[in-house]
Amino acid sequence: MTELNRLTIAEARDLLRRREISASELTRECLEQIKLVDPKLNAFITVCAREAHEQAAAADLRIAAGDAPALCGIPLAIKDIYATRGVRTTCASKMLENFVPPYDATVIARLRAAGAVFVGKANLDEFAMGSSTENSAFGPTRNPHNLERVAGGSSGGSAAAVAADQCLGALGTDTGGSIREPASFCGVVGLKPTYSRVSRYGVIAYASSLDQVGPFAKTVRDAAILMNELAGVDPRDSTCAARPVPDYEAALTGDVTGMRVGVPKEYFVDGMNPEVEGAVRGALNAYESLGARIVEISLPHTRYAIAAYYIVATAEASANLARYDGIRYGLRAAADNNIELYNRTRARGFGAEVKRRIMLGTFVLSAGYYDAYYLKGQKVRTLIRGDFERAFGECDVIATPVAPTTAFRLGEKMADPLQMYLSDIFTISVNLAGLPGMSVPCGFDREGLPIGLQLIGPAFGEEAMLRAADAFERRGAAPRRAAIL
Ligand code: GLN
Repeated sequence: MTELNRLTIAEARDLLRRREISASELTRECLEQIKLVDPKLNAFITVCAREAHEQAAAADLRIAAGDAPALCGIPLAIKDIYATRGVRTTCASKMLENFVPPYDATVIARLRAAGAVFVGKANLDEFAMGSSTENSAFGPTRNPHNLERVAGGSSGGSAAAVAADQCLGALGTDTGGSIREPASFCGVVGLKPTYSRVSRYGVIAYASSLDQVGPFAKTVRDAAILMNELAGVDPRDSTCAARPVPDYEAALTGDVTGMRVGVPKEYFVDGMNPEVEGAVRGALNAYESLGARIVEISLPHTRYAIAAYYIVATAEASANLARYDGIRYGLRAAADNNIELYNRTRARGFGAEVKRRIMLGTFVLSAGYYDAYYLKGQKVRTLIRGDFERAFGECDVIATPVAPTTAFRLGEKMADPLQMYLSDIFTISVNLAGLPGMSVPCGFDREGLPIGLQLIGPAFGEEAMLRAADAFERRGAAPRRAAIL
């Protein structure tokens, strides 16, 4: 058999358990694909070939001994924002270029225990700030469907790696859309769980009241398989919910009869690419033919979401990034005194977007402006949350586009941060409200670029959301393979 790297996790899991393939050959083919296509894509900051081969060999031994946990021998890519013991964790920043954590993030430890193989650390926007992966100190990631286009961001490396069959699944983080938007741009599945569903211990913080961990995968089933391992309480993360974890894979019954799919009228606005709108409307028709009911809903505070997010997120970022002072970890610039050391280290270590956000965040928290901006932003957040609570009285899941456009050109939005921020218009409210959301491929535009359908569930409503996504995916409308490869 060839091209094992193209398998889904579910397919590979079965073949491995039946011992028709080995974890070692599966891992080898992923690493070969990385060697072949990553010079073009730049999806990885660090490739972990030696470690991956060792983990695969250990997985093969476990399988031979009849002990094959869910992800035994499955090659995954990890966004380079997760602490990985012994492997550098850069956050795509010069600040952490040589930082090697002495411990694993909780989810990394869980995946290790489940037998996963880590092929490498994936590229991202510096400290997860961005929508295109162009804000990386290690160069941008390119879209596997068209190398002149961005992969989306901030988890662009993870999305591209899955789309390019460099791994079978990946981890990202989503603070305002960083899993869903790159998943949409690269034509893969991306899931942001409910806030608190998954531990964030060992995940480098951007905006702590919004950040959430989640999977990328080639299929909805694979995303469910990964969620089964990721979700659950963690004594090391006090923000992590102590709720029982359902079997997400078992939720994929294919049956959406009678399900009420809410469509917010505020999400179909002027300026949206008509091909994106067409593909999403096509998906809504598909739901009707599957026996679901489409209901119009209203999320009236949507138009304040971007402003509220960029106040709350930058405020939290300015506090979280204060720790990079040249004393504790990472880069340290030479200086004669401490003040100079802080100044030089932070001037040299952070890129332009990170500096912009630290300044904006410091401003909105400062005396005199706190009430006018930060507090106002938090009040808007409460209103947005209320919009969703009301809407979920009328529907079971919400369906929207993921982004107003398909993948844009490299460089197209770099000169104008506000244009870049507008890419997040449909994803950001979900983080402000703490809800689960996901991106499922629903078609292609004229140029062959993927389009994503966003499904949003009520808090801890991942099962219905996954069921809806899977039922749509089973219709088999969209080809998975990235055209360029
Ligand atoms: N694009 C948004 C931002 O730049 C979201 C990023 C994210 O989800 N990490 O903040």
